[in-house]
Amino acid sequence: MENRLGNPRNTIEIIQKYEFAFQKKFGQNFLIDTHVLDKIIRSAGVTKDDMVLEIGPGIGSMTQYLAEAARAVVAVEIDANLIPILKETLADYNNVTVINEDILKVDIKKLAEQYNGGRPIKVVANLPYYITTPIIMGLFESGVPIDNITVMVQKEVADRMQTGPGSKDYGALSLAVQYYAEPYIVANVPPNCFIPRPKVGSAVIRLTRYEKPPVQVSDPALMFKLIRASFNQRRKTLQNGLNNAAELSFTKEQIAAAIESLGVSPTIRGEALTLEQFAALANYFSENCL
Ligand code: SAM
Repeated sequence: MENRLGNPRNTIEIIQKYEFAFQKKFGQNFLIDTHVLDKIIRSAGVTKDDMVLEIGPGIGSMTQYLAEAARAVVAVEIDANLIPILKETLADYNNVTVINEDILKVDIKKLAEQYNGGRPIKVVANLPYYITTPIIMGLFESGVPIDNITVMVQKEVADRMQTGPGSKDYGALSLAVQYYAEPYIVANVPPNCFIPRPKVGSAVIRLTRYEKPPVQVSDPALMFKLIRASFNQRRKTLQNGLNNAAELSFTKEQIAAAIESLGVSPTIRGEALTLEQFAALANYFSENCL
């Protein structure tokens, strides 16, 4: 297609035409590589049955690809200066809705209801890196029906999503991702695929939502409180971390007994526990201490 964006020439032309000024605070790094865009759409498995939520369409490069592959696209963009540009670049598509809003304030469940009859949606985005974690956690924890999330993130964050105990990158995000979804790194993407170039390497990661999580937890909200308490104070022992957490009110004795039930050292740190162990810990508290 003649006017397809996603290549350097057409992207620069649009930016100059509208005298668009990139805003660092919005994490604006636009993709200018058609191979990467193709790969993202293909790995997300977007079909004409799908409703796709795009977070941060920018000037609409990825949105054009999505509009051709999906039944419906809802694109949420915070920067009002991009809205007139999107009007032009998406003029040929009648299956795209652009919403000028902050994604963290949007009721995504309602969008899934309105545009997809409450059936699972796909989320595809070149994410604004400054809010990757709240976006991903929000999508999982707010009960939005999701099929998969395929997103460009900072390489280091993609690694964090996949890693387990023993790595300095292991944390609450790793555990949330691995409880809700199967992560798969689709591609590593160098800075020269964007305008302007980010300072860090990027990666596309696909998170395929599990129908049933890999561990059984009777109270997932409690498990995530335990996880947050453990990683808020990484250097403390698990015992102290859980003891000091404002969100939790178990006694010292209950915490000691719970840790003992795992069969691990009483001085273990929270960062050494696997997802299975956090699940067992949460189940112990649910059964014995509530
Ligand atoms: N999708 C485009 C692309 O790939 O070329 C742009 C990606 S750029 C990394 C991130 C986009 O997210 C920007 O357009 C930015 O304005 C937008 N954005 C930043 N914060 C946002 C927020 N809180 N809600 C919605 N969009 C946001």
